[in-house]
Amino acid sequence: MAQTQEETFKKMVAHCKEYGFVFPSSEIYDGLGAVYDYGQNGVELKNNIKRYWWEAMTLLHENIVGIDAAIFMHPTTWKASGHVDAFNDPLIDNRDSKKRYRADVLIEDQLGKIEDKIQKEVDKARKRFGDTFDEAMFRQTNPRVMEHQQHWNMLHERYSNAMNNNDLAELKQIILDEEIVCPISGTRNWTDVRQFNLMFSTEMGSTADGAMKIYLRPETAQGIFVNFLNVQKTGRMKIPFGIAQIGKAFRNEIVARQFVFRMREFEQMEMQFFVRPGEELKWFEHWKQFRLRWHKALGLGDEKYRFHDHEKLAHYANAATDIEFQMPFGFKEVEGIHSRTDFDLSQHAKFSGKKIEYFDPELNQSYTPYVIETSIGVDRMFLSVMCSAYKEEVLEGGDMRVVLMLPPVLAPTKVCVMPLVKKDGLPEKAREIVDMLKFDFKTSYDEKDSIGKRYRRQDAVGTPFCVTVDHDTLNDGCVTIRHRDTMEQERVKIEDLHHIIYKAVDVKNLYRKLVAADDNLA
Ligand code: ATP
Repeated sequence: MAQTQEETFKKMVAHCKEYGFVFPSSEIYDGLGAVYDYGQNGVELKNNIKRYWWEAMTLLHENIVGIDAAIFMHPTTWKASGHVDAFNDPLIDNRDSKKRYRADVLIEDQLGKIEDKIQKEVDKARKRFGDTFDEAMFRQTNPRVMEHQQHWNMLHERYSNAMNNNDLAELKQIILDEEIVCPISGTRNWTDVRQFNLMFSTEMGSTADGAMKIYLRPETAQGIFVNFLNVQKTGRMKIPFGIAQIGKAFRNEIVARQFVFRMREFEQMEMQFFVRPGEELKWFEHWKQFRLRWHKALGLGDEKYRFHDHEKLAHYANAATDIEFQMPFGFKEVEGIHSRTDFDLSQHAKFSGKKIEYFDPELNQSYTPYVIETSIGVDRMFLSVMCSAYKEEVLEGGDMRVVLMLPPVLAPTKVCVMPLVKKDGLPEKAREIVDMLKFDFKTSYDEKDSIGKRYRRQDAVGTPFCVTVDHDTLNDGCVTIRHRDTMEQERVKIEDLHHIIYKAVDVKNLYRKLVAADDNLA
């Protein structure tokens, strides 16, 4: 029987641990909620993702430069950014199970359930009517669908109003009226809804000196804003220009679930692009398209991405969208693209008392630049790559293989070299080939077990190529190269290996795609 997406997801998570991609943090002490360590293969994959992002930003755009700001920042940063006052999630506890939930997530799940009901009716009708089925008409006229739709509209409106007005009592009332139960206890014995600040705090300096309360940054963006003048002046940057950064961020998430999708310590790749006021929506559109192309160039499947435009905008934003990826648990945000006006720079100017402006020589005028932000989570990107790569295949003869069909550019190891047997000079020849390849590609060597078993081991970690050295190699200078996805094998000259592997794993192939489609790259 075919397994559900949930079962496959669980297996993928187990696979990540078994093959050195992701381990629970401090596992010998039973782990730490929503904190993970990347293992020997995970770190390579993650580094390859970061490199692809970093170079797509800083190599392909001469007007984007990088920085690496500290995690600790002056505490006033977080007052200015609004995080101290407003970086909250509404939480609610169930008194019976003692489990804590995000009130907004409970209600969004309820909305999702109604959508599922509508979809079921549509699917049933499509089966019944076949080719003649008119979905739009069915949705408008079927009484059951209309009833569900009305319910959804009503709930959605109440929910949006409550969130916009920060009305916690109303959020609780919605949960009660909708008869939402705790999935653990099955009861409706809910506490009131409270706001919960997601920032971790600690103290800097000893208490005797009057220690200062500081925060672990909940996003990397503020490190860029406070360095705007430093970079602009020292780099003689002209607007429009961008600053890119990759780094850790920390959030005390209330509900930590779905593996590395929602972590308490995670990594972000953010780029803030500074533009003239009035030109921000043009650049917003530009970055939306560029970022989507960046994702699609990896070849995970164009149909797995969609934009989700925000209906509810933060008070300082004038446009916002998410790039969502089809995870096994639904379409989920991987990246956010936001048009943040001049909010951040103005706030920092106000709180620091420093003038943070740009003199535009073309306009002969100073102004506070507007900002387009692209913000993507490395870990969520890692997860989307893993989810689409993990495959269980039944082979001829009934054998099963687990293979990670990772984009070759991202694969932790590009090639594994194997002597057919551990004697007759074959290991020495194989080592020679490793030495020839290792400066250009992450290369491994394996001489243990049968060739079949060795192939499986490499499939499981997503190595695109295996190279086998046999007795003939010593005479004809040829080896067998085996392709991961098709399992096809071909006999090639040793000196051709470099070219064959390079063609498949060269990240420049992706950069060319990004640039070719974008004549607007300044
Ligand atoms: P969500 O609504 O899922 O909590 P968010 O809208 O708060 O996410 P942003 O503040 O826009 O997220 O952060 C930008 C990106 O950082 C997200 O698109 C996501 O990829 C990543 N990210 C945010 N929170 C987490 C987390 N707890 N764990 C892993 N990645 C995260």
